[in-house]
Amino acid sequence: MNSRDKHFESRCVHSGIKEYEHGPVVPPIYQTSTFKFESAAHGASLFSGEQKGYIYSRMLNPTVEAMEDAIADLEEGYKGLGCGSGMAAINTALSSFLKSGDHVICSTSVYGPTATLLATIFTKFDVEVTFVNTSFTERVKDAVKENTKVIYVETPGNPTLDITDLKAVADIAHKNGAKLIVDNTFMSPALQKPLKLGADVVVHSMTKFLNGHADVVAGVIIANNEDDYLVMRKTLNQLGGVIDPFNAFLVHRGIKTLALRMEKHSENSQIIADYLDNHELIEWVRYPGLKSHPQYEVGMNQHSNTGGMITFELKGGLKAGEILMNNVKFCQLAVSLGGVETLIQHPASMTHFTMGREAREKAGISEGLVRLSVGIENVEDIIVDIENALNKVSESLEITV
Ligand SMILES: *Cc1c(COP(=O)(O)O)cnc(C)c1O
Repeated sequence: MNSRDKHFESRCVHSGIKEYEHGPVVPPIYQTSTFKFESAAHGASLFSGEQKGYIYSRMLNPTVEAMEDAIADLEEGYKGLGCGSGMAAINTALSSFLKSGDHVICSTSVYGPTATLLATIFTKFDVEVTFVNTSFTERVKDAVKENTKVIYVETPGNPTLDITDLKAVADIAHKNGAKLIVDNTFMSPALQKPLKLGADVVVHSMTKFLNGHADVVAGVIIANNEDDYLVMRKTLNQLGGVIDPFNAFLVHRGIKTLALRMEKHSENSQIIADYLDNHELIEWVRYPGLKSHPQYEVGMNQHSNTGGMITFELKGGLKAGEILMNNVKFCQLAVSLGGVETLIQHPASMTHFTMGREAREKAGISEGLVRLSVGIENVEDIIVDIENALNKVSESLEITV
C-alpha cells in the first residue's frame, strides 16, 4: 500500500497487492464467509482488536481489503471501505455522520437516487435537507445553518456536469464544523483527488470508471483519517452493505488500467464534444473541456483532464431524441456509464419517459437532452455512428444540416 513514491500509473497496477501463500502476482479470491481462530485466546484478541486478523467477511476479507487499500492509495486517503454498490457507500457515509435534528446541504446536480435517499429516507429520521446548486459557492455559504453537519457534493454533477469549487466548499464546511463528502465517480482519482482539495470523505460508484468494464455493481468510501474510518467501518458493519470477494477482485483488476482508460476517455470525449459543438442539430454541448462550460476555469484547476461524460441538447426535442436513439448502431442504448464501451441515453424517451413532460421540465430534464458516456474505442467509429444517426434525425424532421 505504501507506494506513493511511485507514479500514479504504476500505483494503478501495483497498489494494494501483498504477499500471499505460493507467491501469486494477483491477490487470491478468499471466497470464504469466516476464518478459523487458532484458540479461544486468539479469537478473543481478534475481537478486542488487540491482534489484527480476519474474523468474518462482513467485517473484513483479504481480497476486499486489497482492493480497498489500492483505491485508498490512488485517492491518497487513509483507508477504503468496499461496499456492495455506490448507493450502499453513499448511505453508509451519510449515516455515519448524520443524526436526527441535523441538517445536510446537497448539490442539486447529483445522481437521482442520492437525492431521493436524502429526501425520502433521511427525512424520515428527521434529518433536514437543503438542495443547493453548489457550483455557486455563495449559495452554499447562505444555506449553512447551525446544525449543518454534512455538505454533499458531486462534481462534475449528474447530468448537467456542473462543477463545484471543492476548495471553497471545503472551507465553508470546516468553518462550520461540517464534513464535506464528495462523490468522485465521474472523474475518478486518475483525474481528481477531492481529499487533496479539502474533502473529508470520498465516495464512488465503482460500477462506473473504477471497475470500468460494465460487469460489476460496487461502491467504495475513502476516509481521510483513522477516526472517520473507524466510525464508518462500524456503520458499514451494522448496515451490512459490503462488497463480496469476487466483485472486489474484479474491481481491483479493473483499476490496473484506470490511468490509461481515463486518458483515452478524455481524449475521445474532447474530440466528440468539439464535433457536437459545431453541429447544427445540436443546441448546446456541456463538457468540462469546452471553454463554454460555465465553470471551465474552476474545473481546469481541480481536475487534470476532462473525463468521459458529455451532455448535449438536440434540436427537435423528444422526437429527435427518439430518432437518434433508434439509429445509433455502434453506441449502445443503455444507462450507467464509465465502461470501455460508448453508451448513449436520452432521458426524455427512456429513463424519465413515464414522468411526463411537465414533471421532466420541473426536474430540469429538457426534451432533447442526451447523455453520452464515451468509451475507449477508436473515436472515428463513434463519430461516424453519431453522424449517421444525426443525418437520420435531420432527414426525418426535415431540418437541413
Ligand atoms: C451510478 C452512480 C451512483 C450509484 O452507484 P450504484 O453503483 O449504481 O449504486 C452514485 N453516484 C454516481 C455519480 C453514479 O454515477
